[in-house]
Amino acid sequence: MARYTGAVCRLCRRDGVKLFLKGSRCFSDKCAIDKRNFPPGQHGQARAKKIVGYGLQLREKQKAKRYYFTLEGQFRKYYEEASNKTGVTGELLLQQLERRLDALCYRVGFALSRRQARQLVRHGHVLVNGKKVNIPSYQIKVGDTVELREDAKKLAIVEGAEQFHAGLQQPSWLQIDRANRSAKVLALPKREEIHLPVNEQLIVELYSK
Ligand code: SF4
Repeated sequence: MARYTGAVCRLCRRDGVKLFLKGSRCFSDKCAIDKRNFPPGQHGQARAKKIVGYGLQLREKQKAKRYYFTLEGQFRKYYEEASNKTGVTGELLLQQLERRLDALCYRVGFALSRRQARQLVRHGHVLVNGKKVNIPSYQIKVGDTVELREDAKKLAIVEGAEQFHAGLQQPSWLQIDRANRSAKVLALPKREEIHLPVNEQLIVELYSK
């Protein structure tokens, strides 16, 4: 299963926003966006200029792709599936991304970042409807129950994430049981419930050219 293994803070610096890929470091004063908010590389500062047209569409697509830590081929497949369905393509695209098992584990509060959540899934710590699923891109359906395995509930990253997420507003489309580290999917999320600073319309324009 292919995945990006390079430095991740440079991805945030390239897009000029916090993508929250490094867990607790993203909330500390060590965050590279707080210290060096300009594109990476020797001539990064010189290259920082206003982006318009195709460049803007490309940056929005890259941002969404990186938030969910997916690669180009998989992201395009999500777009193609969304564009073949009835409804607003941009919203359907984000819904598909949000229905990934790793994204859901992050939303529920099992991890501090989607990248950490992906690792929890890959290491077999997550159960869907009582069965182990170790595929981060697994698409969750309405009615599914997601929980952590008993031995994973005491992991330091899970406990750290729990404290952080406890202070956040609970997504209305999920029924979260924090004590048992489990959640039930009540509905698919609407666009306003996804809380992602991405202009999905620009992504649709980019792919539909
Ligand atoms: Fe991005 Fe987190 Fe690195 Fe900051 S610390 S640049 S938010 S990955």
